[in-house]
Amino acid sequence: MSMGQHGEHLSLLGMRAASSADRRGCIEVVCGSMFSGKTEELLRRMKRARLAKLRTVLFKPRVDNRYDEVKVVSHEGLNADAIPVSGAEELRSLVRAEEVAVVGIDEVQFFDPSIVDVAEALANAGVRVICAGLDQDYRGAPFGPMPSLMSIAEYVTKLHAVCAQCGAPACRSQRVVASEGQLFVGGAAAYEARCRKCFVPGVVES
Ligand code: ADP
Ligand code: MG
Ligand code: ZN
Repeated sequence: MSMGQHGEHLSLLGMRAASSADRRGCIEVVCGSMFSGKTEELLRRMKRARLAKLRTVLFKPRVDNRYDEVKVVSHEGLNADAIPVSGAEELRSLVRAEEVAVVGIDEVQFFDPSIVDVAEALANAGVRVICAGLDQDYRGAPFGPMPSLMSIAEYVTKLHAVCAQCGAPACRSQRVVASEGQLFVGGAAAYEARCRKCFVPGVVES
């Protein structure tokens, strides 16, 4: 199987004529800290699939309403229509594997653990499932279903932001506004990309 830049699963781009029975599904994970370009990369892959005349659907968890209820929006303003869902089961109920070639999921870290089985079932049914999400929470701990998704995925791409303190590649998201819990979604102003050296676990600075 040929792999393109950023681990994109290029061989699937030529499968427009194949029926779902012939199609080969897979799971791709795009992970990294905040501002690392996960959403940009997800939208880039979705756009290339559409250019190949493949049917795509993009989902996002309903908890994430930072910018727009029915769009996925990157920090640079790049956007695409998305279906907000309240959980993995709702996502599953909205995808007919025989009709959809590519399923994109942004902010996948916010889904319940059953998103792992749903991604697996869709991939087994011939769908290319592209999951983008934070691999670490604000404490630097693995985020929700991400470790499992990364384990079962065919392809994992780990992106880096630029450390807001020193300019090195950043793998962590430093919360700079006081708040408890993984679910706090405060948008760009509440977080800063930091490298391992500049990241201060459990401490909120501003
Ligand atoms: P993610 O989905 O990983 O949070 P996005 O794809 O939404 O990231 O946004 C990536 C964009 O964020 C970059 O293209 C850049 O314009 C912007 N950006 C802002 N701060 C940073 C930073 N510290 N490092 C890298 N990109 C940043
Ligand atoms: Mg994003
Ligand atoms: Zn740094």
